[in-house]
Amino acid sequence: MEDIKKILDGLKIPKKLKEDFIFQLSCGVSPDKAIRNLVEGISQLQTEMMEKAIKQPEVPADYTETEKTIALMLWENTGVHILDSGDLYGRHWQQNRQIKDFKKQEPLKVVVWDDGEINLYLSVFHFLRAFLARDKKSKALERLFYVFANLPENRTLSWLGCMEEFADKILAQVFEYEIHGVSNTYNWENLLSQGLQFLTFYDENEDMYIILQIHNGCDIRGGYTKPRFFKVLEEDYFFLAMSDVHAYCDCKSLYSDDSGYHWYDDKTGKLTEPTEIWKVVPKKPNAESWEYKLKCEKCGKDVQFYPSLDW
Ligand SMILES: [Zn+2]
Repeated sequence: MEDIKKILDGLKIPKKLKEDFIFQLSCGVSPDKAIRNLVEGISQLQTEMMEKAIKQPEVPADYTETEKTIALMLWENTGVHILDSGDLYGRHWQQNRQIKDFKKQEPLKVVVWDDGEINLYLSVFHFLRAFLARDKKSKALERLFYVFANLPENRTLSWLGCMEEFADKILAQVFEYEIHGVSNTYNWENLLSQGLQFLTFYDENEDMYIILQIHNGCDIRGGYTKPRFFKVLEEDYFFLAMSDVHAYCDCKSLYSDDSGYHWYDDKTGKLTEPTEIWKVVPKKPNAESWEYKLKCEKCGKDVQFYPSLDW
């Protein structure tokens, strides 16, 4: 015990946490459990410190209710855990709080490397606002969900577990809605700038609704926002737009339906490498390896990329 006290003395953590740790050991709590509690305590403190250090911006006045809900999700503090893989400021929610107005951000971020590799990132904000809406039913069901989540028997469930229980016991059994399983966009290639986890279902009019969580942390196993409910306005494009992208100059246009792995000529449908028809050139003198762009030598235009957000 004296040895442990010496080690603890060397750690820069609050005295209260050290005392709790010693107290737990003296009460016969297993060292494993006491260490886990200590780690949780430190993580919680860091989360609170980060909340104060990185303030949540004000929602811009011109946002619709749907846009406001999405922005608040993207700014939601999903925690800081000392065992997660993110560095101190690297979590999505922390980076998103640097963004005051998501609408002013490019829907598609394009990075062209000097070797012609193209990285594409579709803004989750622009993607979600194009396909989702907060209608009366989504808000009413969401209120019901949080009443359900706060029942004593459900309080220990994870959000995902709670979504599944709610879908089964309320949406399916009470409302007789058709439930689709849980999806996580980390399970397939797509363009989205952040991961989404969701459960979809159809109401009595066969309209699709979604219970959505956004991945705001660094560690894929945790760090999801609280679930929010939306109506899905166009279900086919909601899924297709996750990996559809177009590129064009004045004389040529290509499209890809697999997040830019394969490109096809819009007119002929022929498989075409963008670097076969367009030249990789630096954006500026002394460009870094990721500061390149594609340029057409025929029409002289820079190649533009755009996602499939209009339907
Ligand atoms: Zn051209």
